[in-house]
Amino acid sequence: MAVPQNRKTSSKRNMRRSHDALVASNPNECSNCGELKRPHHVCGSCGHYDSKEVVAIVEEVDLDEDAA
Ligand SMILES: [Zn+2]
Repeated sequence: MAVPQNRKTSSKRNMRRSHDALVASNPNECSNCGELKRPHHVCGSCGHYDSKEVVAIVEEVDLDEDAA
């Protein structure tokens, strides 16, 4: 295995890490419900994409009702 011959200085380390910062996401407003959503993704709150419903959002399922 290759082993670095010399220790990198803290300056070189910090220069390398200058590109490591995370970039904040850029959310869009959903054209159907107005909720913020990721661009080019189906809206998580209403299931619409390109103003068409592509995923049916199921209301909360009552598990106790089926158990009886
Ligand atoms: Zn939506």
